[in-house]
Amino acid sequence: MKITFLTVIFMFFLSGCSSVVEAPTETPDKDEVVEMPEEPEESAEIINPETRVSFYGVGDNLIHSYVYQYAHHEEGYYDFKPIYKNIAADVESADLAYINQETVLGGDDRGFSGYPAFNTPSDMAGNLVELGFDIVNGSNNHTLDMGTTGLLNSLAYWSEYEEDVMFTGAFESQEHRDTIPVLEKDGVTFSVLTYTYGTNGIQPDAPYRVNYFNSDLIKNDVARAKELSDFVMVAAHWGDEHAHYPNQMQLDYAQLFADLEVDVILGSHSHTIQPIEWITGDSGHETLVIYSLGNLIAATISDVNLLGGAVSFDFVKTEEEKAIENITFEPIVIHYEASTPGNINTRTNFEVIKLKDYTPELEQRHALNGHEGNVISTEKYQETVDEIIAEEFR
Ligand SMILES: [Zn+2]
Repeated sequence: MKITFLTVIFMFFLSGCSSVVEAPTETPDKDEVVEMPEEPEESAEIINPETRVSFYGVGDNLIHSYVYQYAHHEEGYYDFKPIYKNIAADVESADLAYINQETVLGGDDRGFSGYPAFNTPSDMAGNLVELGFDIVNGSNNHTLDMGTTGLLNSLAYWSEYEEDVMFTGAFESQEHRDTIPVLEKDGVTFSVLTYTYGTNGIQPDAPYRVNYFNSDLIKNDVARAKELSDFVMVAAHWGDEHAHYPNQMQLDYAQLFADLEVDVILGSHSHTIQPIEWITGDSGHETLVIYSLGNLIAATISDVNLLGGAVSFDFVKTEEEKAIENITFEPIVIHYEASTPGNINTRTNFEVIKLKDYTPELEQRHALNGHEGNVISTEKYQETVDEIIAEEFR
């Protein structure tokens, strides 16, 4: 009885309140749409026990001078976005899209450059954000191509977009380096750690600028990252250029990351695709390692470097466990043509094209096809993919 009484009083109180709030103060116009209260959906009361965050990752965004010349507009700005139009939907639709920005946005006032010391127009930052990239790695062998000033300029450009993108891998202070970057999506948290084998012999002015591979540093970083987030990703810049298989250093560090219970390793630097595999850490933890995604874009003149890839998968979190599912590798071809047919020094019309959409007509138009023995062949590239990437990921 007591409960009923209290309930009645409570309901009276509630209805009294709501009638005061909702009572119309004037008669609505006949044109006005009067919204009827919606019936509560039954499904809303069922709490989904599983959260899925989709991921899409690509390799080296390697901006040779031919690439930025192609992106240049007379008005003075650079628009790289058309180059990526065939993967734009995949980038946009992923909850988290990742890219390795291989070349530094070192300062627009310093003049742009390609190989060997790259300086990429800062318009690239806004372009990648517009495309929908969420995580940009800035830790690789070109991070110091434009020195400390270039690194700091790069940080300043990316900071304009810090609401939309996590740029990490280059640091302005010890405190900055020591702060584990964490992002959150639908209540699931992710840390992104970054390491490079070197910086092309250029010494940083301070030890915190870039993370070089170092077991003690890695152990410390991963331990802290695991406390802060559900999943730990590592961007690893490593390996032998042009090699299709990991070297001993890659194998050793991949095992260390697995032992430390890292969840995903996103490798790049070889400019070739390398295997994807699960490796087991000493605690039994399974780590997904993508040894190298190859190039996303580049103007190199070796056919082996013009086959790259994108990896997609779902991070899955339930109350009991965390998992990575639906891993798929999508091979891509870096297409370019010659504005003067037969002259490799007139490279233009850059475009990232999925291998499954590549055609004999495009093969014929590719400026590298037939140049110094290079062959751009869909069939040959598919054979490489079949050889390197295990069937379960294709
Ligand atoms: Zn590299």
